[in-house]
Amino acid sequence: MSDTQAITVESLKADFKTQFNTNSVGTYFAPGRINLIGEHTDYNGGRVFPCAISLGTYAAVAPRTDQTVRLYSANFPKLGIIEFDLTNLSYDKKDNWANYPKGVFHFFKEHGYQLDHGFDIFVNGNLPNGSGLSSSASIEMLFGKILTDQFNLTIDQVDVVKIGMEVENKFIGVNSGIMDQFAVGMGQKDHAILLDTNTLKYELVPIKLQDYKIIIMNTNKRRELADSKYNERRSECEEALKRINTVFKVDSLGALNKDTFDEYTYAINDDTLIRRARHAVFENQRTGLATDALKAGDLNTFGKLVNASHVSLEYDYEVTGKELDTLAHSAWQNGALGARMTGAGFGGCAIAIVKEDHIQDFIANVGQAYKAAIGYDADFYIAEIADGPKKLA
Ligand code: ADP
Ligand code: MG
Repeated sequence: MSDTQAITVESLKADFKTQFNTNSVGTYFAPGRINLIGEHTDYNGGRVFPCAISLGTYAAVAPRTDQTVRLYSANFPKLGIIEFDLTNLSYDKKDNWANYPKGVFHFFKEHGYQLDHGFDIFVNGNLPNGSGLSSSASIEMLFGKILTDQFNLTIDQVDVVKIGMEVENKFIGVNSGIMDQFAVGMGQKDHAILLDTNTLKYELVPIKLQDYKIIIMNTNKRRELADSKYNERRSECEEALKRINTVFKVDSLGALNKDTFDEYTYAINDDTLIRRARHAVFENQRTGLATDALKAGDLNTFGKLVNASHVSLEYDYEVTGKELDTLAHSAWQNGALGARMTGAGFGGCAIAIVKEDHIQDFIANVGQAYKAAIGYDADFYIAEIADGPKKLA
């Protein structure tokens, strides 16, 4: 995070003026996201159940009359102003973080939207970067909103979401599914999004947690191995599906249920691949059951499914690691109704559902247990479920 001070319309306007020596004309916000349940299912044709959160990325914007885009992020002050031209929007390593917005400009143009002038843009976020709360989707969707609004474009929000994913896949080179951009781009206050990643059909489900809150627990561990392990899991699932397909035709692991999985597991014929596929199949089932439980106001069942998700990610999918396990296990011991890692894993964040009047004790106890086991501090935030991208002023 850039600092502990609140980011406001006034601070954005003042900071813009300091950087660019002129006045901004608009300010914008895009959230981060947590995933409540349905992890590593999005590239397996399964369901996910994420929501947007009130931590996110802000910008102040002024149009320019030429083709130049000049960007400054308060989160990367050492890099100063990064500049590129609308006539040359190819990926350039030295543009660092600015490749995310550059990719958004690139794909808007490639999809035929006229962008006939550049901008000066000041960015500031209060979302930890690289911690699994999707600061990258947040910045992509922030720029999607800026371009849509500034150029008065008629574009379906789901198409902006798809552009965000294209930036990630084809521009940055991260082989991720559509969940992050969808959660950030389509978020609605106090709702989570049940998304079928095969069909992109979705349903906004009201989240009524009674006297409970969702606590985000940040391991503060960088996800070093995340990309290579992520790709390894993807290919393991592809291989498991291929083997199942030799005896039973199905489009994705997410299309299997308990019965078909049990019946055809033998075709996978490899212990590790069976465990990976088992996670994909049952996590998808759990996501449906968890959504039903929430709709019925049955928080206890929801919590149990959240715990089962972590166990499956720990033992079958093996994407948690000591830091996330310490947080989840300690949360269970300290009275959380449910707790699990969220995001891709290997570091990043976990979430816990905690009774409001117990939050202070919970944070103190889990924080202490984490420091004792890992050697450095975890960070804790209360997650408010927020709206998607918006113009502030
Ligand atoms: P995550 O999406 O889990 O936070 P990623 O590695 O996918 O982690 O994305 C983090 C990257 O996104 C940062 O290294 C930076 O390049 C870019 N980014 C995110 N937020 C900002 C910001 N506020 N200012 C500039 N760049 C940002
Ligand atoms: Mg990301």
